[in-house]
Amino acid sequence: QINETKLYSCVFYSDMERVRMIREKEITNRMQTALENREFVVYLQPKMDIETNTVSGAEALVRWQDPEKGLLQPGEFIPVFEKNGFIVKLDLFVFEEVCRLLRRWIDQGIDPIPISVNLSRVHLKNPDFLDQFRKIYERYQIPPQLLEIELTETVVFENLEFLIHVIEQIHDMGFRCSLDDFGSGYSSLNMLKDVPVDVLKLDRAFFQEKKSNAKRGKCVIENVIELARKLDMDTVSEGVETMHQVEFLREAKCHMVQGYVFSRPITISDFEAFAFSGNSGGESE
Ligand code: C2E
Ligand code: MG
Ligand code: MG
Ligand code: MG
Repeated sequence: QINETKLYSCVFYSDMERVRMIREKEITNRMQTALENREFVVYLQPKMDIETNTVSGAEALVRWQDPEKGLLQPGEFIPVFEKNGFIVKLDLFVFEEVCRLLRRWIDQGIDPIPISVNLSRVHLKNPDFLDQFRKIYERYQIPPQLLEIELTETVVFENLEFLIHVIEQIHDMGFRCSLDDFGSGYSSLNMLKDVPVDVLKLDRAFFQEKKSNAKRGKCVIENVIELARKLDMDTVSEGVETMHQVEFLREAKCHMVQGYVFSRPITISDFEAFAFSGNSGGESE
């Protein structure tokens, strides 16, 4: 006799799979046109310096403004682009948009705020990939200390030697370099001794601890921040959603907080209003 449950779950699974494949094909067919039509939009999420209560940085996070489907979040398309390689073009586009924005702030006499961009591990397959980033930033003549490259900890395990080489090249260009999503996966503290990044971004996993573990969770966070400080790294806490957490992080001497508690990722013009309003000298004439 046929096991009905098994049969149904099998049909259900293949339907889901079919929908996913169709969606993936749709994305692949549309992506190049979308880039040319400027449907990819850079949003910025403020990083707050919690000692001075000022916006001391921003992270560029891409969205896809699809004319039919509306605003798509990176989780819906970046995995596809990492599979088909288009992420390389998209990251360069985001980087150029960021350089263009920094150039405009400088030209308008606005005190520019440093911006970080995410770099997919797919780039690391091409040993010369940084040349393209170098060309773009030279074209816009941006002071390199305004730019920061975020590398995700997952790349660390693929090829540590090469990663260190990449970080050194990023430093040679004068950019800062951060380790993103630290603590989300298999990060080991030991790896911090080998990876010469300037900034440690604590994943929101640190802030989602169960109530019963609150004490232990705090202890871990405090000591990771302390360790980062001793290694001369700044810390950015991601995914912070309550002022209670901010107070704790201030006491733990975390430098920056990036989270919904201050702002979601917002459009460039909303970011300018958020960061520069009431900031004397922030306006252009
Ligand atoms: P990420 O680099 O770790 O970026 C932080 C993510 O956390 C963002 O999600 C942000 O919206 C979210 N977030 C920030 N604060 C909070 C909070 O308080 N609560 C919660 N629940 N979430 C918060 P987003 O924008 O959906 O981006 C997801 C991921 O997609 C990014 O994670 C990054 O890995 C990737 N991504 C985004 N833009 C780009 C890009 O231009 N290039 C590449 N290669 N990857 C990108
Ligand atoms: Mg990031
Ligand atoms: Mg992150
Ligand atoms: Mg992430």
